[in-house]
This record gives sequence, structure tokens and C-alpha cells, in this order.
Amino acid sequence: MCKEEQHVEYTRSILWLRRDLRLRDNTALAAAASASREVVLAFNVDPALLAGERVGAPIVQAFFDALAVLRAELRERGSDLAIVQGAFERTLPELAARLRADAVFFNEDYDPAAMARDAAVCAALARAGIATHALLDHVVFGADEIRTDADAPYKVFTPYARRWRDRYALAPRLPVASERAIEGKLLARAEIGATLDLPVPEAFGFESSPRYPACGEAVALEMLDAFFARGGGAERYRDERDLPAVDGTSHLSVQLRAGTIGIRTCVARAFAAKRGSRHAEQIDTWINELIWREFYQMILKQFPHVDGEPFVHAARNLRWSEDRAAFARWCEGKTGYPIVDAAMRQLNETGWMHNRLRMIVASFLTKDLLIDWRWGERYFEQRLADADLAQNNGGWQWAASTGTDAAPYFRVFNPVLQSKKFDPTGAFIRRMIPELAGVPDKYLHAPWELGPLMQIDYPAPIVDHAAARLRALAAYEPVLGKKSALAPRG
Ligand SMILES: Cc1cc2nc3c(=O)[nH]c(=O)nc-3n(C[C@H](O)[C@H](O)[C@H](O)COP(=O)(O)OP(=O)(O)OC[C@H]3O[C@@H](n4cnc5c(N)ncnc54)[C@H](O)[C@@H]3O)c2cc1C
Repeated sequence: MCKEEQHVEYTRSILWLRRDLRLRDNTALAAAASASREVVLAFNVDPALLAGERVGAPIVQAFFDALAVLRAELRERGSDLAIVQGAFERTLPELAARLRADAVFFNEDYDPAAMARDAAVCAALARAGIATHALLDHVVFGADEIRTDADAPYKVFTPYARRWRDRYALAPRLPVASERAIEGKLLARAEIGATLDLPVPEAFGFESSPRYPACGEAVALEMLDAFFARGGGAERYRDERDLPAVDGTSHLSVQLRAGTIGIRTCVARAFAAKRGSRHAEQIDTWINELIWREFYQMILKQFPHVDGEPFVHAARNLRWSEDRAAFARWCEGKTGYPIVDAAMRQLNETGWMHNRLRMIVASFLTKDLLIDWRWGERYFEQRLADADLAQNNGGWQWAASTGTDAAPYFRVFNPVLQSKKFDPTGAFIRRMIPELAGVPDKYLHAPWELGPLMQIDYPAPIVDHAAARLRALAAYEPVLGKKSALAPRG
């Protein structure tokens, strides 16, 4: 892709921001600043991308909010955020020409569509005589860095995580001092000249909501601080991370998606907090989740066919139901299974869903309703503020048993048992489904058991779980039942 050139001094560089909307711990920003006399930060709004079906209001709002925060901070420093709009291959060379920049720096993205775009933009910039530099930033270790003894990419998480940890212990990748690097280097606002106003979701047909997650560098750092403060969520993470009513997770996924916080900052903070702490095991479980994130990013880069196809080749032969009405009921949170419906309402209303619930609703869609994981994946892309192809695809393929290191096909979550285990008092269900608030505890997880007493406006279950489970096993067994079926493509 882009050629890496060492020891080059540029007059003026552009940092092309994409999924790294921050000033601190930003690899490409640090590199741009140290290789150039002046730096200008730029973001391109691409209407074609926003018109596509793979984005939704919550993530658009998160990114636009983060841009506002970034612009305000840059203006305080006497500079500005250059906002352009249009097709990347045109806007970037135009901006470089207007600002007389001789280099463009950016951080890599493993999304196959983003990689194709980056290659095209690099080619257009090269034609204009502008150097380009792609840096590793959104993961601690790049997709080629953690490999098996046979020099192949890992396909199973546990050995991957072990190697990841060994490598980190030997040579930790610490936060990058980009904020210091830009001191005295930011191009003055007057020189940047006229630039577009901050974009708003409504201008692109999205409806914003105060209930969607706030996003921005300052918020992200505060969230990390709060999570690791004395008595904060990190100290109880292992014990509480599965309880949606307690909400014992960091909520940093949205920030990691928009890049308002650096992954190195999160990882370094966790290891520092763990050292000598009596909560070390709790914190270590959180580190493990960050490694899951790295694992799925690696899988996407090494096996890009997962975007659109199952990781496991044989799973292409699964025959999915085309029941659109059932899919609509799942989307709307009207399946009649309270934990599933509460989860979907959390997603629809807040732009975020608890991890345990993501697993439950994904299992329900792909096993109980036997609906294609790609339908669910797409719906999540449109509804999650943290929608990230690598993790979303990994999560969906895990639940559907079509992925790398996935749940075995015969593991079908029982939504009632999951509900009783992870929302034992029903506090989460009652919060999200007010219609069920008055239902006695005993019936809350399966209100149809009230029989004729069920005088509430709440749907009967869309399927009988026991029968649906047998149907799923009958569909999966011939396809994934043989061990040889579990090989990836190619
Ligand atoms: C079907 C399904 C779809 C998912 N889609 C996404 C998605 O689009 N974007 C996304 O960021 N995560 C996704 N996840 C993973 C996980 O649910 C979220 O990262 C998590 O709920 C975010 O909340 P948090 O930041 O409070 O997480 P925490 O529990 O505080 O975890 C810290 C960070 O670790 C990473 N992480 C946590 N759990 C996982 C996991 N299971 N896999 C990979 N990384 C993880 C995230 O970056 C998260 O922010 C999905 C999981 C499933 C089962």
C-alpha cells in the first residue's frame, strides 16, 4: 500500500483523521508532527458512505460529536480542524494542494472497504506528488505481529492471547506522546483558511438523540479514569460484567470505535492498575476483553472473507429462514422473551447493548429463529454507536457458530435460563419493559406461564424455545456436525 519513507522532513503534513479522533496517544499524529515543520488535522465527510446501509444514527452522532470536541480543542490552541466533504480520492489531494502540504499521514484501518479506499487515496496522492504514511494505531499489535510457531495467523483465541501477553510483557507498547509532539507545530487557523462547519446528523438524514452515548476525547479519558478510580467498575469487573442491571462494564467501546481514546492508553492503564492490586484478577478479565478486540481485528485483516461470508467454509451450506416478520419482531423487541426484548429496546433506544445481551439476542436470532447472522450483523451496524466490523462480525459469527473459535453449533442459549442467571431480580427487564413492571418475580422471565392471568399488553413468545432448539440442531448438525466441517475457507 503506502510506501514507508524514513527520515523525511516535510514542510507541512496533513493528519488525515478517520477512526482516531483525538490528540493524545495518536501514532500518525506523533509521526506527522515529528517528521514535519507544520501539521494540520483534517477530516473528510463522505456523503456516499453516510448514505450506505452500513451506518446508523448512533455512530454518526458519536463521530460528529467527537469532531466538535476536537475542533474546539484545536481552536483553543490557535489552529483548526480542516473539514472537507466529498469523495476521498478528490478531497484529500485538493486539500493537500490548497494547503501546500507535501505529506499525508493516517492510521490504518483493517476494514476491507477502508483498505481499498486508502489504497485509492494513496494512489491519487502519489499522482499529485504527495507522500503518504500509514501507521499502526487502532490495535496494540498489528495483524501480522502475533503469529503461531508455524508462522501462521491464529484461529483460536486462547493461544493467541497467551502469545499477545508474552509479547506485551517483553516489550509493552506504551501510549504515544502525540500531544507533546504537536506543540508549536499546529498550523495556524488563519493559514488553514475557510473550512466547512461541523457536520450534523440531520443533514445526512439521521435523527440524533440525547440518549445515544456521548463521545469525545475528554469524555473518554474521564470514563477511563472513573472505571479505574478507587471503587470503580474495574475492581469488580470479572464479577459484574455479565449483569446488565448492574452495568459493570466500561462503556469505552464507543470511544475505541471513534478513536477518542488510544488502545495503548487503555491497556497501559489496566496493567498499571493491576500491578500489586488485590483486584488484579478482576482487572485482568478486562485486559482479556481488550485482547478479544485485538483478536477479532486480526481475524478481519487475515481473513477478510468474514465480511460477508462465514469464517468456516462449510457453514455456507446452512439454510436460513427468510421469515421477515419474525426478524421485524426481533428488531423491535417483540419476541415475547423478556430478556431478548429488553436487550433490543436497550439497543434501539440508547445505541448500545450490554455484551451478555448481545450474545443472548444473537443466539436467539440465529438459533431460535434460524435467521442469517448477516441480517443481525447489519441491524447492529445501523443501531450501535460502537459498531465495528471486526468485533461485530466476530460476535455474530461466534453466536451463529460459523466463526473462528465460535460457540459449538449445539450450544443454543436458553433465553429463560440466561435471563434468570444474569438478571436474577429482573431489574433490567423491568427498567426496559415497563409493561412487565408489575409481573411477579416468579413469572417475569417467562410471563406466558401466567396463563390466563397474563392480562398485560405483551406478546406471546414468538417460538417455543424447546422446539426451536431442536429445529436449529436439525439444521446445523448435517452442516457443522462433522469435525472436518470446522475448517476455515481456503
Ligand atoms: C453479537 C455481538 C456483536 C458485537 N458487536 C460489537 C461492535 O460492533 N463493536 C464493539 O466494539 N464490540 C462489539 N461486541 C463486543 C462487546 O459486546 C462490546 O465490545 C462491549 O459490550 C462494549 O461494552 P464496554 O465498552 O462496556 O465493554 P467492556 O466490557 O468494558 O470491555 C472493554 C473493551 O473490550 C472490548 N471488548 C469487550 N468485549 C468484547 C468482545 N466480546 N469481543 C471483542 N471485543 C470486546 C471492547 O473494545 C470494549 O470496549 C459485540 C459482541 C457480540 C456478542
